[in-house]
Amino acid sequence: TARGPGPTIACSGRGASPTGKPRRSTGHSIGGRCMIRFEDVTVTYSEAPSPALRNVNLNIREGELALLVGRTGSGKSTLLRAINGLVPHFTGGLLEGRVTVAGRDTRTNPPRELADVVGMVPQDPMSGFVTDTVEEELAYGMEALGIDPQTMRRRVEDTLDLLGLVEIRDRALLTLSGGQRQRTAIGSVLTTNPSVLVLDEPTSALDPGAAEEVLAAIQRLVFDLGLTVLMAEHRLERVVQYADHVVAIETDGTVVHGPPESVLADAPVAPPVIELGRRLGLSPLPLSVRDARRETASWRHLLDDSQSAAAVPVSASGESAMVANVDHLSVLYGNFAAVNDLTLTVKRGEIVALMGRNGAGKSTLLNSMVGLQKADRGRVQVGAQLADPFGMPGHELLKHVGLVPQEA
Ligand code: ADP
Ligand code: MG
Repeated sequence: TARGPGPTIACSGRGASPTGKPRRSTGHSIGGRCMIRFEDVTVTYSEAPSPALRNVNLNIREGELALLVGRTGSGKSTLLRAINGLVPHFTGGLLEGRVTVAGRDTRTNPPRELADVVGMVPQDPMSGFVTDTVEEELAYGMEALGIDPQTMRRRVEDTLDLLGLVEIRDRALLTLSGGQRQRTAIGSVLTTNPSVLVLDEPTSALDPGAAEEVLAAIQRLVFDLGLTVLMAEHRLERVVQYADHVVAIETDGTVVHGPPESVLADAPVAPPVIELGRRLGLSPLPLSVRDARRETASWRHLLDDSQSAAAVPVSASGESAMVANVDHLSVLYGNFAAVNDLTLTVKRGEIVALMGRNGAGKSTLLNSMVGLQKADRGRVQVGAQLADPFGMPGHELLKHVGLVPQEA
């Protein structure tokens, strides 16, 4: 029972530009109709001592990119799930006030009746997958909505192109990298043609390269397709300069929202460049490294050579004990060397950052250091006794080394 898009609602009371300053945004949304509206919304889960969201008022206009920030447990997922009615229809609890999406009230429209206007990408894409391959997953949501086969086929092709999934269309979902999974999850809601896309920390399990791909794809959806996007995201530095709106949830469940530079001036979570801007007292706050360089150009002469020489780190005790020794390690998958003649030592108390592109061999190296992967050439030793982890029984291995995997 589609109820139509509902009445056009003007977005009033937006916190935009209190200073009258021109906004750095896309400029396409000013005066647009209200796509997401919260009116004095308080959400209290059953048996919770206090509300997860408290008196939230929010207006997001058509075509806007809005970012949701806040500490863990502050209510980000709760706010996002209230948009498609999962809160409270599925989670239970009490929702006071009113949430409307494209004019539809979530109180009278349960999630399945909002599926054509709101696409929701959950935090863990695997948990939302219902089929086995990329292409099937893109088609699944449309089947559920009873869309005709010809339209389905066209939308699948469009979405494969848009999200760079053409080459992996037949791949099993289980074999995808984190970034590919996340783009597939986004694709699977896009094919239902929603006007609002809601994403819950889409890059939280991704390495920086894959995160950037996903954020770039999301940005294209806003700029090229005119989608309205609200997303909870930690990697603000990659998106904040494109955002129209930042919504910050405080730990008590109240919300502050407005243009990025005004909200982030006191938000509990801010990207490094904004932290720097705050400490330097820059106004307006820089949203990108480029902005920061521009605003500090007149100070650059203060950074002379003597300071950069002093910044070279002095290594700690040269004789501290070795706790991992990787000696000319090679690990082969068939003929392909995922790790090739790698030598590395780690000393007690050191923190070592392992960097490399997707597929560079990071996980293979870590797996061989915890005995999950056999060395084809060379040697791996771990722990104070420098033992060979491969083939060691689990209870013994844990005395020497532990691994926290990328996906828990
Ligand atoms: P975030 O996404 O910012 O980490 P959440 O929205 O998940 O925050 O959680 C906000 C608060 O609500 C937390 O105290 C959390 O424990 C509680 N909460 C979240 N989901 C539920 C639920 N389904 N039932 C009961 N309490 C919940
Ligand atoms: Mg969450």
